[in-house]
Amino acid sequence: MRIKAQVAMVMHLDKCIGCHTCSVTCKNTWTNRPGTEYMWFNNVETRPGPGYPKRWEDTERYKGGWTLKNGKLTLRAGGPISKLANIFYNPNMAEMEDFYEPWTYEYENLIHSPKSENLPVARPKSEITGKYIDKPEWGSNWDDDLAGGSDVVPLDPNVEKMQEHIKMEYEKTFMMYLPRICEHCLNPSCVASCPTGALYKRDEDGIVLVDHDACRGWRFCQNGCPYHKVYYNWNTHKAEKCNFCYPRTEAGLPTICSETCVGRIRYIGVVLYDADKVKEAASVEDPQDLYEAQLSCFLDPFDPEVQEKAKEAGINNAWLEAAKESPVYKMAMKWKIALPLHPEYRTMPMVWYVPPLSPIMNHITNEDELDTDGYIPAVDQMRIPVEYLASILAADDKELVRKVLLKLSAMRVYMRGKTVGGVDEFKQS
Ligand code: SF4
Ligand code: SF4
Repeated sequence: MRIKAQVAMVMHLDKCIGCHTCSVTCKNTWTNRPGTEYMWFNNVETRPGPGYPKRWEDTERYKGGWTLKNGKLTLRAGGPISKLANIFYNPNMAEMEDFYEPWTYEYENLIHSPKSENLPVARPKSEITGKYIDKPEWGSNWDDDLAGGSDVVPLDPNVEKMQEHIKMEYEKTFMMYLPRICEHCLNPSCVASCPTGALYKRDEDGIVLVDHDACRGWRFCQNGCPYHKVYYNWNTHKAEKCNFCYPRTEAGLPTICSETCVGRIRYIGVVLYDADKVKEAASVEDPQDLYEAQLSCFLDPFDPEVQEKAKEAGINNAWLEAAKESPVYKMAMKWKIALPLHPEYRTMPMVWYVPPLSPIMNHITNEDELDTDGYIPAVDQMRIPVEYLASILAADDKELVRKVLLKLSAMRVYMRGKTVGGVDEFKQS
């Protein structure tokens, strides 16, 4: 057993209000320099939607993460050596239009502009070329609050047909927020895809960092990461990424996104894991087994044998105590109400998500249609489809998501019963 400590995060999606405070405070702290304008170490996506960069989950296009070849864990885009052959043109790279061209406004024009028919006249100017952009077409959360709804209904000259379509499609429209940072993976494909070894995983806390002296700006990490959480600084020609606010965490402070999160959705904690098990766990054949495989790497911080071995491995008492108190351990490993984002990428991500509960669909009016006894809401009839949550959090394992939602629903009903009256009152309401 090779015990290591890892800092990790759980985000409770029911509590995210999509305010982007986390993104803005992160940006002000880490990416407010020339060359970093388009970078969002923390971003919040409106889902379902293409995300940032656009369609980052399309692993066929971007070739990020790991796959199994003849049962062997293999980088989807090929190893660093084969990638070096591609050095002048890497066809899998996300391009500027997949992020967006950073721009600023000429605010002077707002104040001193001549009278005109259409105001405001502050035109956006590219930060890179210095030229005016006629019409910005994309941004890091361009589809905020639309969630794909805008292209669901095709215009149809037959109004009745269109109304029917709207009824069918819009009644089913749903949205949710998905805040994202680097996953500080246990099996990081960004590290494996870097030919110079500039990306590394810190031994003491598992934070994944870039050594800027070693980075040659080849950008293989950029599409090596299936979550697209490594960026290229066009000014310094180095890779940059979320560093889990290590200068803050080393001083005992939370990350800036956690500290400023308006919804208090972010829980930070330390977990202990057996590093000898990671590769085997990441190589299980069926993607739906990856969740259990990843759980099997984690160790019980209350187990005396684990504690002893952790001390032998140089993990100090403060970290052991933190592992016992860890909300991440409780939510992800003990209560099993949090799930990893896209486990099928096989990087063993360490930011886990409590899936959102959502209301029962309005159009279900016949009580007989509800698969519920009145106490536990029917998870299959919630507005956010179980299938969708399973596609991002469970490698399409709907049963796993159902189990988590049922636990959350039961806890909600129980707490309501305790705080605002008995379960019967809840049922009537
Ligand atoms: Fe590396 Fe972070 Fe991407 Fe994981 S999420 S592969 S640690 S950049
Ligand atoms: Fe969501 Fe918190 Fe970020 Fe607001 S600050 S968008 S609530 S994660």
